[in-house]
Amino acid sequence: MSKLFNELMPYLEKSMAIDTALTLLSWDTETLAPQDAADYTAKVVGLLSGESFSSIVNDDVKKLLKELEKEKAQKELSENEKAIVRNLIRKMQQMEAIPKEDYQAYSEFAAKAQGIWARAKRADRYEDFAPVLEKMLDYQKKFAACRAKKGEDLYNLLLNDYEEGFTKKELDIFFSKIKESIIPLVKQVAAKSNAIDRSFLYGHYDIEKQKEFCRYIAGYVGFDFNRGVIAESEHPFTTNLHNHDVRITNHFHEDNLDSAIFSVIHESGHAIYEMGVSDELTQTPACNISMGMHESQSRFFENIIGRNHAFWEPIYKKLVSYFPEQLSDISLETFVHAINKAEPSLIRTESDELTYSLHILIRYEIECALFSGKATVKDLPELWKQKYKEYLGVTPKNDTEGVLQDVHWAMGSFGYFPSYAIGSAIAAQLYYYMKEHMPFEDYLKEGNLTVIRDFLRDHIHKYGSAKPTMELLKATTGEEFNAEYYIRYLTEKYTKLYDL
Ligand code: ZN
Repeated sequence: MSKLFNELMPYLEKSMAIDTALTLLSWDTETLAPQDAADYTAKVVGLLSGESFSSIVNDDVKKLLKELEKEKAQKELSENEKAIVRNLIRKMQQMEAIPKEDYQAYSEFAAKAQGIWARAKRADRYEDFAPVLEKMLDYQKKFAACRAKKGEDLYNLLLNDYEEGFTKKELDIFFSKIKESIIPLVKQVAAKSNAIDRSFLYGHYDIEKQKEFCRYIAGYVGFDFNRGVIAESEHPFTTNLHNHDVRITNHFHEDNLDSAIFSVIHESGHAIYEMGVSDELTQTPACNISMGMHESQSRFFENIIGRNHAFWEPIYKKLVSYFPEQLSDISLETFVHAINKAEPSLIRTESDELTYSLHILIRYEIECALFSGKATVKDLPELWKQKYKEYLGVTPKNDTEGVLQDVHWAMGSFGYFPSYAIGSAIAAQLYYYMKEHMPFEDYLKEGNLTVIRDFLRDHIHKYGSAKPTMELLKATTGEEFNAEYYIRYLTEKYTKLYDL
């Protein structure tokens, strides 16, 4: 280790320790903390966020980074150290433009905002959330403006934070392809909605048994219970302290069998990624994986593996043994058709693989309108309804199942949604590559997921964010990002499934 890098270490360690504590607090807020804790805990979060800020944004670190950027110093660094420096510089640039007091006040506000959103959503009262959203948007615009270069578009800046290299220009092209190919496909499938029956999935399914099966299937796809835990929350999510402590949540419905199963496979995909980051990179600034790549892995596990006929061949009997009353008469064929049924719906997190990207398209267009000034916070409920009608042919009855459904805006995550669609497209690109280079479906039929998992770990997971997403994708598949694979995947799959 070079002398300069060694000098940087104590700062990195302190920042990591504070951030780990903040992650743990946020996990606790989402899972176990009592409802009334929010305002008081927000104060702790605000203060710790201030500490996290100063642990990185200070003259000593700035000086060290300036030195470390120089060619001579770079020569003495290992590849991982270079990646850590590069990621830290990016983080520093994002943070230093923002005054510490503002950052601290924002963090305190943000810690409360989610609770207000959750209550407004339960009560179907958009008017209670609107002022918070307004303030959140102002903060995000203000912070982006602090960081923007002259003339730089603020929304582009935020998009680039979540997925480097993706701005409105790239996304407009991407989504116009989706519109062109997927909307007609959705219409064809919707016209044959009676072809597939899902009703048996909505019978009565004991929650304790669901929990047991979900634990089994998480382990089956590769979730390591020695390095991870599963808890419950309103919406399933993944968080991690480091690669030896990865936490996922799930949510169970007594009258729905497949929601929890696919949530746990999805979150396991995220978790397997985090568990696969190399020990040299975990707990460093080079482990903050881009959202698009992260989502590519969760959706790879959920859809490409989890909804595959071959995946269920060795384990469907096991599922039937948990619910013999409900499933003994249901064949594997019928089950696999049911879990792949596509139809226009209102809720993104419950939507199927085919219509999913249209939910994202809607959010993307709304965010573009919010940032360009074409729409205001007040307009959103109506705009939301219009776009659902236009693209999916359905209209929410209220705001709970409309504009209030997602937590992202309450978290200040503007520019985040497109990474879900980018992730789905990356997953499809990886799938076609892997299919060509290994007997993918045969492995699934044998219940042998190890080879597939090892491939993903060795080509993607272990690198954390040491390499940019698009570079990793190219190194793995030999090709730049290519949305055609995603369109091909959906077209082939649904043409076959619905006999179109
Ligand atoms: Zn996800």
